[in-house]
Amino acid sequence: MKIIIVGAGAAGLMAAGVAAENNENEILLIERNARPARKLMITGKGRCNVTNACSNEELVGATYENGRFLYSAFNAFSSWDTMDLLDKLGVPLKIERGQRVFPVSDKAVDIVDALVKYALKKNVKLINDRVEALIIDGGKVLGVKTESKKEFFADKVIVATGGKSYPLTGSTGDGYILAKQAGHTIVPLRPSLVPFEVKENCCAEMQGLSLKNVAIKVIDSYNKKNIYTDFGEMLFTHFGISGPVVLSASSHIKDMVPDRYEFVIDLKPALDEQQLDARIRRDFEEQSNKIISNSLNKLLPLKMIPAVIEQSGISPDCRINQVTKEMRLSLLKAIKEFKLTIQGFRPIKEAIITSGGVKVTEINPKTMGSKLVSGLYFAGEVIDVSAYTGGFNLQIAFSTGYLAGKSLMY
Ligand SMILES: Cc1cc2nc3c(=O)[nH]c(=O)nc-3n(C[C@H](O)[C@H](O)[C@H](O)COP(=O)(O)OP(=O)(O)OC[C@H]3O[C@@H](n4cnc5c(N)ncnc54)[C@H](O)[C@@H]3O)c2cc1C
Repeated sequence: MKIIIVGAGAAGLMAAGVAAENNENEILLIERNARPARKLMITGKGRCNVTNACSNEELVGATYENGRFLYSAFNAFSSWDTMDLLDKLGVPLKIERGQRVFPVSDKAVDIVDALVKYALKKNVKLINDRVEALIIDGGKVLGVKTESKKEFFADKVIVATGGKSYPLTGSTGDGYILAKQAGHTIVPLRPSLVPFEVKENCCAEMQGLSLKNVAIKVIDSYNKKNIYTDFGEMLFTHFGISGPVVLSASSHIKDMVPDRYEFVIDLKPALDEQQLDARIRRDFEEQSNKIISNSLNKLLPLKMIPAVIEQSGISPDCRINQVTKEMRLSLLKAIKEFKLTIQGFRPIKEAIITSGGVKVTEINPKTMGSKLVSGLYFAGEVIDVSAYTGGFNLQIAFSTGYLAGKSLMY
């Protein structure tokens, strides 16, 4: 059987490797970049959080958009299968906090090399070209047309072109155009696992400051509901905030409206209010003649002091011996509940993943085959599925790539 796979990223490489296990298949893997898997190279800050060592139920639970659609894919190829395969390919792995799996070498390139080796069997040909259109006739896919004006014909085509984020890696959203051409509905695209733009100017002033162990919550100001809490690391940037807890929080905001959501940071989560008050009083007693902006160095990172004082409403020149109890309590509140107003997501090109994509009800979950065009399959981020950080998105690419590659014979 002749098979075309569009895109040699995580999903496409996996699909090629599986499909090639059947010697009778002849596979053409078309990749627009000179080298495959450029996005995979930058995953996990170059370390590649390749999967999550958890059960299939947990994989479904971590997939916040259309997790249930992926039951069959995870059953066909679980995170333990990913680990097994990489082990067989000679890549030792380690499990870190939150069951996140990384190569022992901490090098994403080791994962890329192993997957390329797995994919490029004798019956797989990798070419460098960009697919621009599908050739479809009478409800059946017949092949693809490329940027270099070539036509390639096949019995089956797998679209594994990724999402629309980090376009320099090659994923510029071509798959959505191909799917539309085949008559598929594209659920509107939006950035996910993405930094926030923030109203307050203080973020720019604190640019580069990273907070390691903070507790955060996101409050919906329309109904005062707490929609997300987390604990961990975040970062101030020239536009607002980023870092692990911020990216995770972004996936809990479905309808972004400027000023609607408040990001609240507890800068001292290990201390309750009484303990923090006692600590502040102790610090103040030692420095009673200083002005407040010079007396919080032991409590807060230097760059944060002006912003916290501003939120407390105390004048930065106020001497400690003039600070009233009310003022001290408002300082305490600014430390336990430092508030930022979320203005919006950063653009999709800066998102870790793209939410939205090919509508799942138009794809057979047992094969990843299109319900609209026979012989057409989808795998990876191009489908409308999204998961939290932790190795889940790569596992989705591997599981759907595997299932598509395995199902071609049916
Ligand atoms: C900075 C960053 C860090 C990340 N870290 C992690 C992590 O540690 N763990 C995790 O689980 N997930 C991580 N992700 C998410 C993860 O990388 C993606 O979800 C995953 O790569 C999607 O796999 P894919 O195969 O569907 O798409 P991609 O990996 O994007 O591959 C798609 C491929 O298709 C090619 N292509 C596109 N259009 C065409 C065309 N028209 N013709 C030919 N080829 C085409 C592209 O060049 C690309 O090589 C991260 C993402 C980013 C941006």
